[in-house]
Amino acid sequence: MPDITKKVRVRFAPSPTGGLHLGGVRTVLFNYLFARKHGGKFILRIEDTDQNRYVEGAEHYILDCLAWCGLNPDEGPKNGGPFAPYRQSERKANYRIYAEQLIRDGYAYYAFDTTEELDEQRQITPNFRYGHENRSFMRNSLNLTEEETKALLDQGIQYVIRIKVPTDETLHFFDMIRGDVSFDTNLVDDKVLLKADGMPTYHLAVVVDDYFMKISHAFRGEEWLPSAPVHILLWEYLGWKADMPEWVHLPLILKPDGNGKLSKRDGDRLGFPVYAMNWKDPKTGETTRGFREMGYLPEAFVNMLALLGWNDGTEQEIFSINELIEKFSIERVSKAGAKFDFEKAKWFNHEYIKKSEVAAIKDQVFTILKEKGVQIANDEYFIKVLSAVKERMIFLQDFWEQASFFFEQPVDYDLNAVKPKWADTKTEFFFELIKTYEAISGSENWETINLAKLFKALAEQKDIKPGELMLPFRVMLVGGKFGPGVFDIAVLIEKEETISRIQKALIAFTED
Ligand code: GLU
Repeated sequence: MPDITKKVRVRFAPSPTGGLHLGGVRTVLFNYLFARKHGGKFILRIEDTDQNRYVEGAEHYILDCLAWCGLNPDEGPKNGGPFAPYRQSERKANYRIYAEQLIRDGYAYYAFDTTEELDEQRQITPNFRYGHENRSFMRNSLNLTEEETKALLDQGIQYVIRIKVPTDETLHFFDMIRGDVSFDTNLVDDKVLLKADGMPTYHLAVVVDDYFMKISHAFRGEEWLPSAPVHILLWEYLGWKADMPEWVHLPLILKPDGNGKLSKRDGDRLGFPVYAMNWKDPKTGETTRGFREMGYLPEAFVNMLALLGWNDGTEQEIFSINELIEKFSIERVSKAGAKFDFEKAKWFNHEYIKKSEVAAIKDQVFTILKEKGVQIANDEYFIKVLSAVKERMIFLQDFWEQASFFFEQPVDYDLNAVKPKWADTKTEFFFELIKTYEAISGSENWETINLAKLFKALAEQKDIKPGELMLPFRVMLVGGKFGPGVFDIAVLIEKEETISRIQKALIAFTED
């Protein structure tokens, strides 16, 4: 059973290979929530031992993503900590001794097989796995005498160190989400622990570092479950079993149709982001869109992610970060994969924009407008407009689409909405309305209730249902059938502009 009395130290251990998938951010989040809840530490460790997959800028990008989400680590490559360095490439010297210790203790061996020899085996045996079935006839220190092995090492022949996985055993371990998990060791291959370039592989490095960094709980995606037996054997063989972290393999985030793991390609295909922030691949120069740039609020992003595979047992869906910290528990993380639903993701952002203070989002919206080349002043008027339309925005980017008519007169009108039901009586009504509104003096009287009251009184006098006039009035001010309350719009754009728009639209509405 899990030992919850351990001092909580958790880690997010990404390999800097590209953009940060939302599944990665969810792993960060669950780590973070768990650490905060139990007064523990959240560590960021960069697993960059695979030189071939290393991508320039990816580490920096990961740090930016975490900062954007407000999920900053307590220890990591940027802020340091008692177990520094937090980049595996800088800890290189720590790993070899353990690989050699494993050899001395009979749990690992040198393998001198050349690439050609391995390729040959792959040709003979499809799905070739270096392991119990074939290790006895490969070129490795299990089959060579001590002298032969030494001679090869002395000659500087290239080698890797492989773990020797036991044959015919069933390996059991406890996962806090999955309960008892078992593996048949015959299906586990002799993974490379130390590569020919002297770098450890992920398997060795992750165990050595989790041990030295005193990690109490290892949260990671379910895709790492097949690697767990190798790691568990290493904990045992290195004599560290008593300090092994609790395992927490998180459910996958699935494609919207539930068919397999959500990938970046699904996002491209279905038109939604899968990365937290825009990621520019330094090799291809290609940019993949992220949630941030799409106009997602970080709080909404975090809230949405929390519910991908977790709930608090009630119907509640909106949680502040502090509520999440208070309520999060591994027991309520589901085993089953969580389908990603972009419509639901949009709903979260919409809810957060609605409840945001204008002051909290105005600068971002203003920046988006500037990027679009829209020239408006970040002034009182802009702020009033933003409060009027934010209820209608799903993304911060939606502002201009929802609000451009506040800044520019409509050029086109939705005439289909108006013309079929137009009548001379309506033209008369609007002529009268211009006069009525013109007569209003003092800006304190140019206000919603008063404008609505006068509008309705005039409609009554003309014997037209106000409902039949409201839509044309809206189209006059907005150009289309959308936007906030029509009298609120009139108040904001003020008297002169309202009247000018009615006059201009009347020409368009009455033209043949
Ligand atoms: N370096 C692994 C990754 O890129 C980490 C897996 C783990 O947390 O053990 O996701």
